[in-house]
Amino acid sequence: MDFKLTKEQEMVTLAARRFAKEICEPIAEEIDREHRFPRETFDLLTKYGFVAMGFPTEYGGTGNDKIAQLIVVQEIAKVCAATSSILSIHQGMVNCLLKFGNPEQKDKYLRPLLCDGVVGAFALTEDNAGSDASNIQTTAIEDGDSYIINGTKRFITGAGQAGLYIVLAYTEPEKKTRGITAFIVDPEIEGFSVGKIENKMGICASHTGELVFENVKVPKENILGKYNQGFKIALTSIDEARVLTVGAQSLGIAEGALDLAVEYAKNRVQFGKPVAKQQGLQWYLAEMATKIEAAKWMTYYAAQMIQEGKRISKESAMVKLFTSETARYVVERALQIHGGYGYMKDYAIERMYRDVKITELYEGTNEIQKLVIARAVIN
Ligand SMILES: Cc1cc2nc3c(=O)[nH]c(=O)nc-3n(C[C@H](O)[C@H](O)[C@H](O)COP(=O)(O)OP(=O)(O)OC[C@H]3O[C@@H](n4cnc5c(N)ncnc54)[C@H](O)[C@@H]3O)c2cc1C
Repeated sequence: MDFKLTKEQEMVTLAARRFAKEICEPIAEEIDREHRFPRETFDLLTKYGFVAMGFPTEYGGTGNDKIAQLIVVQEIAKVCAATSSILSIHQGMVNCLLKFGNPEQKDKYLRPLLCDGVVGAFALTEDNAGSDASNIQTTAIEDGDSYIINGTKRFITGAGQAGLYIVLAYTEPEKKTRGITAFIVDPEIEGFSVGKIENKMGICASHTGELVFENVKVPKENILGKYNQGFKIALTSIDEARVLTVGAQSLGIAEGALDLAVEYAKNRVQFGKPVAKQQGLQWYLAEMATKIEAAKWMTYYAAQMIQEGKRISKESAMVKLFTSETARYVVERALQIHGGYGYMKDYAIERMYRDVKITELYEGTNEIQKLVIARAVIN
């Protein structure tokens, strides 16, 4: 057992922290207020190799491990949760292509996604298929050398910004989850359009929207993985995203909120002394720091399991559940420590309070995580 970061992981931490402070933090309030996708930040994340972090060098990746990938998302989430969503959900999609793509698909798509600023998105959810993902209505009907896709996807991160989508559709609905196939879809294709972009409570700079498919003709060579393997692809990808997206993001948000709370408590004077001297607030800070420590090692451990190629359904569900609840708790306490000022938009903690809620909802709600964990514990 070795609980130390490697020299390389330490260097990644410092580089990512600096990027977050110098590039992400100064615009975090503005992109939230304007609901603006920070294209320039994504380009810089690409330029400095943060997008490519944790992917193999043969496809333009940095060659670092999954812990390094996690650290970058964590550092960015400390100052801007929306940017951490944009980055990590993109990386989840790339990871899916890397895992299930055939050699031609990897050669064609990975480099643009890792090195050229193309944004990727993963489209599973629909109006009546959220937690029950098997209830999707989108279909892909065989037509010679192609499939014709019809349907509407909902709540897709990167909608309208993405240059490449992975889309899940029923190829044989009667086979239920064994009749779903994943397709790689270029948004320039005829019949594809982006519908409503949601007006969200938090992570406003990360766009979430609808994708509409009207007789979209996709060649058979765009099937990702095997025919009818789409549901398995989705579940495997979601398992990893629960750690590398939500775990990393929750951890970062919680750490960022604790930093703000400590800073504020040391400087805010009431009754003639900083409020940090009040034992009541010290107890809050102690509990916040302790929960973060537990969340951190749990998340790093699961990322190490991913790195070693292990199956992590139970562990990733635990990480997602615990880190997101920790993040919500920590941000709420941090706002309380700010008193009335924390309720004002002048303070970053107000934005974090809105942003943090998403960690309990996407990549499967926390109720769904409990189902996964309970199933593993009972079996
Ligand atoms: C900002 C944002 C970004 C997103 N990005 C993407 C994306 O990029 N790609 C994508 O495909 N999807 C994306 N999603 C969709 C997201 O994964 C779903 O919203 C989520 O899985 C929950 O589905 P739902 O919203 O339909 O809730 P529902 O499934 O309708 O759930 C409603 C409530 O019922 C509970 N519930 C449901 N079933 C059970 C059960 N069996 N036991 C106990 N409780 C249950 C839920 O936990 C929840 O509390 C995104 C969502 C948001 C909000």
